[in-house]
Amino acid sequence: MLSEFDLIAKYFTRPTPNVTLGVGDDCALMTPAPGMHIAISCDMLVSGTHFFADADPRMLGHKSLAVNLSDLAAMGAKPFACTMALALPAPDETWLKAFSEGFFALADQHGCELIGGDTTRGSLNICVTVFGEVPIGQALRRDAAQVGDDIWVSGTLGDARLGLAAYLKEMSLDEATHLNAANRLHLPTPRVALGMALRGIARAAIDISDGLIGDLGHILKRSAKGARLDVDALPAGAMLAAQSQDLRRRFALAGGDDYELCFTAPPEKRSEVENAGKRSNVPVTRVGAIEAVAGVRLVDAHGEPVGIDAISFDHFNKK
Ligand code: ADP
Ligand code: MG
Repeated sequence: MLSEFDLIAKYFTRPTPNVTLGVGDDCALMTPAPGMHIAISCDMLVSGTHFFADADPRMLGHKSLAVNLSDLAAMGAKPFACTMALALPAPDETWLKAFSEGFFALADQHGCELIGGDTTRGSLNICVTVFGEVPIGQALRRDAAQVGDDIWVSGTLGDARLGLAAYLKEMSLDEATHLNAANRLHLPTPRVALGMALRGIARAAIDISDGLIGDLGHILKRSAKGARLDVDALPAGAMLAAQSQDLRRRFALAGGDDYELCFTAPPEKRSEVENAGKRSNVPVTRVGAIEAVAGVRLVDAHGEPVGIDAISFDHFNKK
């Protein structure tokens, strides 16, 4: 059977020119560039909680890094390195090969080098930590929203939730729709280029992992503000767009796993925001505004209040 050290050497050791010292010693060594913050984030994927035990290993490799890169994107940071703590029930080489290929394919796209980690026997659990850099003073923080800011979202919302609904047999979809929605769920695209392009333009930002309304709520809380959201302006995903208005609104507002960015920017920066979207090849849509009064007020296209019992995902308070 493959030993722990052979496994690390075979599947998780790659050249790491970005850093001073990569896999193989007690610690990795990296040298921050002058004038840069190091942005650090860690996200864990647990079998049975974040994915099903039979999940496709290549997609899992992609997603375990993608969710972390999404956090760097939300901060406006440029990825350069990551570590991986991996608990595995057994050293299954077919699984390891596909998993590491999925992981490194995305890592290579973003110049994000695997510089260390830990490998142990246990129920399947993948914990990746990413390191990025962002010029001092330019990070897109959650506490920076100001009254009058526009609220924007990138890409489209809700298709990942539609994929989950189909998997859970909450609803049935035709085969092509199911497959496309499932890809949005399993293969999220972290909006790294957009996050970087928004430096100096956006004020607050967050990535939408638990649903827009809940994640926007984190910005509002940290910034001590409220918001108005136009539910009919929300960019529903291509698959979701074919569903009923109620489902469109719910999944766009509170479906999880989108990994789009929600950010605020002053109205005078509208054209700069749109250019940042164009430069990074991702649509950006204005969906509301930051207000002084706490809470989120949902309105329709005519500005009339909309009541939707939309809640975001919370691991400890499932409804
Ligand atoms: P230690 O005993 O000091 O914890 P390990 O034997 O766990 O070190 O790891 C040996 C080397 O392999 C270290 O450099 C560690 O960072 C790296 N490593 C372990 N697991 C992984 C992994 N899954 N991916 C990348 N590097 C890993
Ligand atoms: Mg160790």
